[in-house]
Order: sequence, then structure tokens, then C-alpha cells
Amino acid sequence: QLSILSFNQKMMTMKKRVAILGSTGSIGCQALEIIERYPNLFEAEVLTANNNTSLLIEQAIKFNVNAVVIADESKYSIVSNALDKYDIKVFCGIESIESLVCSDNIDIVLTAMVGFSGVKPTLAAIKAGKRVALANKETLVAAGSIVMNALKNSSSHIIPVDSEHSAIFQCLQGEYNLPDKILLTASGGPFLNWDKDKIREASIEEALNHPKWSMGKKVTIDSASMMNKGLEMIEAKWLFDVAPSQIEMVVHPQSIIHSMVQFKDGSITAQLSNPDMRLPIQYSFTYPNRLDSHIKKIDFKTLMELNFSKPDTDKFPCIRIAYEAIEMGGNIPCAMNAANECAVELFLDNSITFGEISKIIEQTIKTIDFVKEPSLEEILLTDKEARKIAYQIITKK
Ligand code: MN
Repeated sequence: QLSILSFNQKMMTMKKRVAILGSTGSIGCQALEIIERYPNLFEAEVLTANNNTSLLIEQAIKFNVNAVVIADESKYSIVSNALDKYDIKVFCGIESIESLVCSDNIDIVLTAMVGFSGVKPTLAAIKAGKRVALANKETLVAAGSIVMNALKNSSSHIIPVDSEHSAIFQCLQGEYNLPDKILLTASGGPFLNWDKDKIREASIEEALNHPKWSMGKKVTIDSASMMNKGLEMIEAKWLFDVAPSQIEMVVHPQSIIHSMVQFKDGSITAQLSNPDMRLPIQYSFTYPNRLDSHIKKIDFKTLMELNFSKPDTDKFPCIRIAYEAIEMGGNIPCAMNAANECAVELFLDNSITFGEISKIIEQTIKTIDFVKEPSLEEILLTDKEARKIAYQIITKK
């Protein structure tokens, strides 16, 4: 016990330098809060953003980072002009992100960007042997086998940031047995108790009104359609090497239990806390250590009840679609993810109804050419092709 403690203390005295991919998003901002709270333990070294120049500039100055990347190349001059008088390197474009995460001055790469854009930087960080704090579930959905293969040939390791997967990861610490079953909890989103017909016609505001978690728009819409749970089921399959049939979704509206693991003797371990993403983000930085956190602690004297139910796949067809997609395997989960990203965008753009999201995804999966063991190039092609198909379905409508 003592030696573990002193080992951990030694680990914690070495300052960790962090690259935050997607620093202006919800996860990125919360990660910076943690870095700000523990300036002796962590340092923000690289920040990247898609197009939010003003917040990226503000963060870069505040944390005196080494380098920033603005993915949108047309915005390069805005950022470079604003940071001109500071000693901060400014880059643009996706390729810059890939090369920066590999630099020697990075220990942890937090992948908190939205969607498929996470695939290449995540692979680059893995090949460079970095700790990947994985907050970008779409990478594993689209390219799970490629990512897991890359991990086998590298000194890199993934620490999940998604709250459910962080919970499962925590439940498995110190465990010598493989899980028999993973119980993946779901809040159920804003439409848990709505009628099927009402869900189909839900407005943007209603879909963005998540009862438990404050998150970015993409994941909030995914939570409303419950595609988020479908993506997370596939994420869990890859991270914990279990069959989709071993992953059972459990609706748990209070979001206190963040997921559970069942072993063959029937024993279940669970991880509980009040819902706050700063906990799994912080754990991904400090693992195998833990640090104080600001989150409100659970008080069992006031915690009235925890409820559980089965998800309704008739009301939320995206759950069924995700199980079917991972069953088909190959490039199909990638196509599903691409179609979903398009559909969410179109819904937020007022171009389609909420009910059409799942229809577009299903139609895209039916249309795309099947590739059984896709290479990275074939995954990139599938993503492009699936987006094309999804948009064609809308224009033909
Ligand atoms: Mn989650």
C-alpha cells in the first residue's frame, strides 16, 4: 500500500503537459478549469479549435500556451494577428493538429473535438505513444478496429472521458476477471416520457433541453434521439473488448450511476457521483491517482431514489440501428456515424424534422457499399460517401 502511495505521489509531481483538441467546446472549457485549479500538476501546451477564434485567442493568452491551431484555415490571420505580440505559435488546418499532438512536449492528448474529425489526430497521438484522454466517441464508432490495432503496436493508452466509459473503466480497476456484462446507463434524454408521435415533431429547443447534462449541441441532440447511447455501445465494445450482446442499456433518469459492470458470479460494481463532466475529465488526467474535485458530493440522506427501466427502441429507433450497424460490422458503423452527423446538422439547421434523423441514417446504411475489413483510406472514403448519400436523401425528398 505504502509503495503504491509513494509511487503515485512521484507520478503526480511530474507536471503533465496537455494538448486539448477542441478547447472551445464544453469538454475543452471544463478541462481548462481543471488545469487552472492545479497549475502545479498540469499545463495547457496546445489548444485547437474548429472556428471559435475569439475564445481560442482568449484561452491561449490566459494559459500562455505554446501553440494553437485554428482548423478553419480562412481564420488563420484573425488568430495570428491577435497573438502577434505573444510568444505563442499559431497554425491552421487539420494536418497541423496531427503533427502537434506528436511533439515531445505533450504528455496527454484530450480529444474533445466533435465528430469524425477526431479520427486522424487520435491515431497520430496513439502512434506517438501519448496518453489519449478520449472524449471523442465518434472516432471509435467510425474506426474502432483501426484504433485498437494501432494501440496494440504502441506504448499509448486510452483513458475514456465519456462518463459511462469512465465509470466502466473505474469499475474494472484492480479486477482480474473479464466483465460478463456491461450495464450502460442512459438518462433517457428530454423525450423519455414523450409519445412517439410527439417526439417525431419535436422542435430544436425541445431537443436541446437536456434534463441532466449540460453539453455541446451535437451530443445533446444525440441524447435526445438516443443515438448517443448507440454510439456509446459501440465505443464500449471496442474499449472493453465485449460483444454488443454483452452490453445492456439501462435507462436511469437521475444520472447518479454512470454505468455498471457485472461479473460471472453475478456481482455488480458501479460508479456513482453527481453528474458533472469535470470528474471523468480530471480522472483521465490523474489516473491512476485521484484529486479533490469541486463537484457536489452525493448525500445518501437526501438522495431519494434511483430508478431504472428498459429503453424503448420503438420510440428511439437509433438504438436498434446502432446494434444492427455493429452487427453488420465493417464500414457500416462509420456510415451510420457520418449519416447521423449530417442529420443532426440538418435538424439544427431546420431542414428536417426530428423524426427524419433516424430515417436518413437507416437509408444511408442501406445504400452504402459494404466493406468488410476497411483500411483507414476506406474509412475516410466511407465517411465522405455516406455524407453524400445522406444529403441526396434530403434533396430528393
Ligand atoms: Mn456519455
